[in-house]
Amino acid sequence: MASEGEEVSPLTGDSMDKLAVWGIASDFVNLIRQDGADAHGQPALRTRAEGQGNPCRHCLQLIAEGEEMRVLAYRPFDTVQPYAEVSPIFLHQQDCPHYASDRLPAWFAFLQPALVRGYDRSDWIRYETGKVVAGTELEAECERILDDPDVAYVHIRSKFNCFQCRVERA
Ligand SMILES: [Zn+2]
Repeated sequence: MASEGEEVSPLTGDSMDKLAVWGIASDFVNLIRQDGADAHGQPALRTRAEGQGNPCRHCLQLIAEGEEMRVLAYRPFDTVQPYAEVSPIFLHQQDCPHYASDRLPAWFAFLQPALVRGYDRSDWIRYETGKVVAGTELEAECERILDDPDVAYVHIRSKFNCFQCRVERA
């Protein structure tokens, strides 16, 4: 039963857990925009967005076609360890707002499919949490994974294994 102040789903009557969704840290993004080193120790490539499928991992919005962007190797972990995967990501070259919300960006519904998995406090994958889901199911799946108290946070990745964002309990 939902406690006071919790939202209740009109569909299921279950309490809805609040999520905390963030783009990657502004300090790091600003370094990259000034030719700072990426996860491979190289300056990010500077190019222009082609097509519609170029999400910026700072504002978590799509980069408009023709707009300047950076392409870099990104490791979404503080330390180098066996589970610290590196993937390519994009960033706006121009300033953009840092994403922080209790919801995923609406366009994530078009991720077909997305990869989702939980990590423990040692930044190791919790294997039972790994799933491939439709973008429309991502929020519910994040809430389900975060119900496990041994899960510290969730990562969402594209079908190409490119890191999209980190999700925690609000
Ligand atoms: Zn951006």
